[in-house]
Amino acid sequence: MNLLYKSTRNAEKTVTASEAILKGLADDGGLYVPVSIPKLDVTLDELKEMSYQETAYTVMKQFLTDFTEEELKNCIAKAYDSKFDTEEIAPLAKVEDTYYLELFHGATIAFKDMALSILPHLLTTSAKKNNVKNEIVILTATSGDTGKAALAGFADVEGTKIIVFYPKNGVSKVQELQMVTQKGANTSVVAIHGNFDCAQSGVKAIFENKELAKEMDEAGYQFSSANSINIGRLVPQIVYYVYAYAKLLQNEEITAGEEINVVVPTGNFGNILAAYFAKHMGVPIGKLICASNDNKVLFDFFETGVYDRNREFILTISPSMDILISSNLERLVYMIAGCDAKKNSELMKALKEKGVYELSDDMKANLSDFAAGYATEAEVKNQIANTYKKTGYVMDTHTAVAASVYEKYRQESGDERKTVIASTASPYKFSRSVMTAIDANYDMMDEFDLIDTLEVISNVDIPNAVEEIRDAKIRHTLECDPDKMEETVKSILKR
Ligand SMILES: *Cc1c(COP(=O)(O)O)cnc(C)c1O
Repeated sequence: MNLLYKSTRNAEKTVTASEAILKGLADDGGLYVPVSIPKLDVTLDELKEMSYQETAYTVMKQFLTDFTEEELKNCIAKAYDSKFDTEEIAPLAKVEDTYYLELFHGATIAFKDMALSILPHLLTTSAKKNNVKNEIVILTATSGDTGKAALAGFADVEGTKIIVFYPKNGVSKVQELQMVTQKGANTSVVAIHGNFDCAQSGVKAIFENKELAKEMDEAGYQFSSANSINIGRLVPQIVYYVYAYAKLLQNEEITAGEEINVVVPTGNFGNILAAYFAKHMGVPIGKLICASNDNKVLFDFFETGVYDRNREFILTISPSMDILISSNLERLVYMIAGCDAKKNSELMKALKEKGVYELSDDMKANLSDFAAGYATEAEVKNQIANTYKKTGYVMDTHTAVAASVYEKYRQESGDERKTVIASTASPYKFSRSVMTAIDANYDMMDEFDLIDTLEVISNVDIPNAVEEIRDAKIRHTLECDPDKMEETVKSILKR
């Protein structure tokens, strides 16, 4: 069966998976969604015997139907290899009676690696399939983790260039060092004098600029996106939820068909949307629990049906979730509107013009798969400290948002189903926040002393990604104002 994709803002036109991956964002500003969510074509018992790579093929072949078996298997083999520090790729750690799905064992120690190690291969394969002759320029706005993962994925990939924009004062020390030390002749990194939403809006504006696209085409370039608006990011993320369920089954933690809950620390709504897709493919998932930090625009949305971005942007110790415009929510809004592109377009127009929209009652009624909560900064720190003191397990700040939200959800709802928490980053990536949550006195130490101490207290080896930046040379120093992003892109491409 050939699965086609539509824009969330256009009911008419369909494109193939490879076309959707190439474009990133549709011309009308909408996001691509499959016309239907395919059902898993294997049993849970079959899944339980599969490796990560086999699971990836089983899931992804149903979404990327215009890729041949050889093409897709090739992409998967290149992505999920020894760049990951465990053969399991996404191991499950059981801590007390909860399961942490560790998605940070890839090259840049955050869950973005799960999709961004395969996206470059999906994209270059898509370019070949569609006879694209232009060089592909990846433009990416990052709240910290996407940037490095995309840089690592695309560095020196033939036929591509990558330009990453990050908020100058909105990322952790390790995150910034990881980006500005990136090697690769085709990589550029730019610090924006503004927050993540400024960077993301700027990138979206460049994508929507048709004149610029024409100019670029004449110069032999075309833009694409590595942000989670690209369907080539969403699809690989479905895999690990299917895999996690199969692992629980294999480890006899659950019986076949038993429902589990999934908790996801959420920013741009990409990761949790992948879990929603996994559920609708047939994985027995009960609640999808959306966890926010103090930027709780999504919590308010699920509580009230009103999305309102008109609020103060708060910098937190979980910076990858410091987001007020969750791009991928548009896909959910479209689906709960019964795949009504017109209705969705109206709401997105209201969001753009007024910063707020409200769901109809019918749409609200379609949100029952979800629960939502948020954790304050104090709660996040307590979660890290308490879990460490009780169990010795050290989690990062984003994962702690999810763990804290889950504890509150469990108490309030009495829902005792087994639960998987998406663990989205290694604690090493946010070592200062993690260590000072455990003991405020650690704040006196410098970054790498903190990292060495974290190794001692956690009994987990320092990952390669951190060792690499200890003495690495700074290669990227560009900065710009949010209204100068287009000019900056042009000047980079002229170099
Ligand atoms: C990107 C990121 C998130 C948020 O994921 P979304 O898919 O944007 O919701 C959470 N935690 C970490 C560590 C991240 O890098």
